Amino acid sequence: MTLPSLFVSHGSPMLPLTDTPARQFLIDLGRSLPRPKAILVISAHWETAEPEVNAVTSNETIYDFYGFPRALYELRYPAPGTPELAQGIAARLAAAGLPTAIDRTRGLDHGAWVPLLLMYPEADIPVLQLSIQTERGPKHHLALGRALAPLRDEGVLIIGSGSFTHNLAEFRTRRPELNAPALPWVDAFADWVHEAALTGRVDDLLDYRSLAPFAVKNHPTDEHFLPLFAALGAAGEGAHAERLHNSANYGVLRMDVYAFHAAHETAAAA
Ligand code: ZN
Repeated sequence: MTLPSLFVSHGSPMLPLTDTPARQFLIDLGRSLPRPKAILVISAHWETAEPEVNAVTSNETIYDFYGFPRALYELRYPAPGTPELAQGIAARLAAAGLPTAIDRTRGLDHGAWVPLLLMYPEADIPVLQLSIQTERGPKHHLALGRALAPLRDEGVLIIGSGSFTHNLAEFRTRRPELNAPALPWVDAFADWVHEAALTGRVDDLLDYRSLAPFAVKNHPTDEHFLPLFAALGAAGEGAHAERLHNSANYGVLRMDVYAFHAAHETAAAA
């Protein structure tokens, strides 16, 4: 069967070391999906002016965060890369009018390795990353995803990794408990996105910053939301959304996970 594309909320880098529903869900998700031949992650934590894809034989684990407990820096995710597929992706994107550079050194940032460590702990499936272009907004990322859609037929699992809501200033001010329920303005935004996604209102989603309640409060900058558009695009036109998981961490981070299925496919991912 063709793999769905996924939007995954990666949460805090501490996710693998927490006892949360989101962590357990990602563990179960990896076990329930058909095994991919390769995994392409579009992570909020790799921002570049033009698209870039990494082409390495072995991925370094990047600790792109500061001040966390030592145990977190001892986690490793040494998945192989796949330079050949990276070349193919760059060519595919270029053909779609999205020139893409190849980075021959970069490994995996925590937007990629945190969820993958839970989903595929063996780190034996080739992984590559594609960068986001934050200034270019939702529509550009939908186009990136659409250009990648044929990869799903080749057994490539496409994951947009960000956060369904992401106001870290609120998190730092309030210091809420790990399992605190989501605040009302967090849920209001998440509910709106959920409704728009399930009813296929792509144009509304693209304009979420003006239409969704508390959009800018939940995403003061939108790099953590843009990977959702890449995942949506990767399921092609007329894709339908399926919410696989919803929960909240720290009251402000909704940890929701969505699968996007191509128009002709039924929801049977998990
Ligand atoms: Zn993040």
